[in-house]
Formats: sequence, C-alpha cells, structure tokens
Amino acid sequence: MIPLFKVEVPADAADRVTSVLDSGMLGHGPLVEEFERELGERLGNPRVAALNNATSGLQLALRLAGAADTPGGEVLSTPLTFEATNWSILASGQRVTWVDIDPDTLNVDLGDLAKKITPDTRAIMVVHWAGNPVDVDRLTSILDDAEASYGHRPVVVEDCAQAWGAAVRGRPLGNHGNLCVYSFHATKHLSCGTGGLIVLPDERSLRRARRLRFFGIERDADRVHADYDVPEWGYNFYMNEISAAIGLSSLAVVDERIARHRRNAAFYDAELAAVPGLEPTVRTPGLESSFWLYPVKVDDRPGFMRKMAEAGIAVSVVSRRNDAHGCVPQAARTLPGLEAVHDRVVNIPVGWWLSEEEREHIARTIRSGW
Ligand SMILES: *Cc1c(COP(=O)(O)O)cnc(C)c1O
Repeated sequence: MIPLFKVEVPADAADRVTSVLDSGMLGHGPLVEEFERELGERLGNPRVAALNNATSGLQLALRLAGAADTPGGEVLSTPLTFEATNWSILASGQRVTWVDIDPDTLNVDLGDLAKKITPDTRAIMVVHWAGNPVDVDRLTSILDDAEASYGHRPVVVEDCAQAWGAAVRGRPLGNHGNLCVYSFHATKHLSCGTGGLIVLPDERSLRRARRLRFFGIERDADRVHADYDVPEWGYNFYMNEISAAIGLSSLAVVDERIARHRRNAAFYDAELAAVPGLEPTVRTPGLESSFWLYPVKVDDRPGFMRKMAEAGIAVSVVSRRNDAHGCVPQAARTLPGLEAVHDRVVNIPVGWWLSEEEREHIARTIRSGW
C-alpha cells in the first residue's frame, strides 16, 4: 500500500536521544533552547516558545488572547479541520461560532468571516488546512475594518499545525501579527514525535507564554528557597529534551522533504487538471502551500476510495466536518460552501516518500476513472 503518511526519523536522531538520556537532563534544557533558536531563525521571528504539542499551543494562544478569562465567549472558527482546533476552544470554556469555508481552497471563507465578526467576538481561529495558507494579509485588513466599526479587534490565532514551510507573499507564517501555533507531531512535516510551537507577535506575550507553559513560574525563580510568586497560574505545556533532540535532527531534512511534497503537488496539478469528476483545490499566487496534504474533490467519493484501495493507494477523508459531532451545537446558520464539498473531499498521497513510479501509478489510476 502506498501510504498517505509516513513517519521516518533521520538516522542521527537515535544518537541525539541517547546523549539526552545520558545527560541526566530530560525536562527543559539546552536542546530545547537550541531548537527554539533554530526555529526562530527559520521563521524570521525569534519570539517562539516550544511546547509539548500544538493542542496545548492553541489553548495557550486563546488564553493569551484573553479568550479564556470568562466562560461562554464567542470564538469564530472553521468546521473543516482536525478536532484539536475546535476542542481547544471548548477546553478554554468558550463557544464556537462556525464560519463557512471557501470550496476552492477548503480554508475559511474570509468574506463570511468578515460578516460574522461582532463586538462579542473574543477571538478568531483560522486553519491553514493541508499546509495551504489563508491570506492573512487580507484578514488583517478585515480586522482593521472591524476595529474601525466597533472599536474592538479580536485576536487572531493561526493554527499552522499542518503548515510548516508555508509562506504568505514570501514571509513564513508567524510574521503577520497574530498568535501562531505549529505542530511537530510524528506525521507532520517537522517532527519531534510529539511537540509544538507557539510564535508570538511581541516580547510581552513571549514572556507571558514562556511563563504560562511552566505553571506560571519564571524559569529563574528561586525555587530552592521557594522565594517566588506566581501572579498568574499556568500549565504543564513545556517541551522536553528528548522531543527537542528528535526535532533538531528532523530540522536538517525538512526543507528537502517539503520541496518533494511541492514537486509531487505540481506533478498532480498538471496530470489531474482535466480529469472528469475531479477538482483539485485552487492555487493563489503569493500563498505558498507546503502541501502536507493534497486534497481533491471527487464525484462518487465511495467509488473513488474503493478504486484507489484496489490499486494499493492509501487515501483518506482525514477529518469529519467538526460541526457534525455530538459535543458541539449544529451550525445554526447554514454553511453552503461546506455543504457543497464536505462529502466530496478526499486526500491522496503527496509526501516525500513517493517514487516517480508511484506518483505516476496514482495519476494513471485516477485518470482511468472510477
Ligand atoms: C495535527 C493538528 C493539530 C494538533 O497537533 P498536536 O501537536 O498533535 O496537538 C491541530 N490542528 C491541526 C489542523 C492539525 O492537523
């Protein structure tokens, strides 16, 4: 079976991890700090804090955004995402208000988002689905308009979990004035086994994030004499040395792997452009996807999935529309963009592990119909 995801840690990760085990320092330490420096350099923004995973990061971001101070506030979000995005909102005691998706990109529909911002909106969660960036510059001008109308500017949290390597007009995600969260889960482009990163827009929120990831305690607090105060309680969300060691070895190969995802995507864009009953997502100049996934919209999805399985190709819907789950209220307002595509979307293998023969086999199988 040609896999949809592949977990393969570079060979030197084992040595790095062994050194950590021998060091006697397994919690927060020098490798986490080295990893943070390297990540900040790659992003072009040094204000980063490494975390135990991205779901923690989303909760921390909502807390920093002030969207956890009192319960029941409204957070705008997309239903087409991995559940971690929206359950972080629930874990913060807030309510989700669903925003429609753009059927062309499968990302949030910024037009619908603009209409749904009200003076009650506490925060806005956007997801760069499949690694394909939302136009965060356009989002900034939507917020400028909202601020001009209401005198209130909701904080934006960007779920970049799938989007390491993606950029908007040449700048990596994490540089557009918002709170951004990356995932380093085993299946993501950059892997720590499990891990995450929050990227902050200013020094004040960076200092606060670093405190809150460790119970609200300053790292240099005098814990020997217990001579310190915690003015604001925090979480156990920090990254450990083992994860950082794996992350540092993954960092050495990630660019080349993403380049292969992009080349495979360009190959499919050309090969699948005119297949009856199949539509790839739309590419927008300036929005540079890292193609963690390659979603397509197909007629007769069950038939398509059967045909691919018979040809030895793993495909997956990946995530159910989150508004259909029992733990959240159904979308009170209809979501026509989502309705138009949610039962047609399926993801085909696009990763660095595909050989030329395999990707040709995939394109040929699809072109032969289902
Ligand atoms: C993977 C993923 C997450 C969660 O990441 P973890 O690091 O496993 O917590 C959140 N949102 C999206 C869109 C994801 O794909």
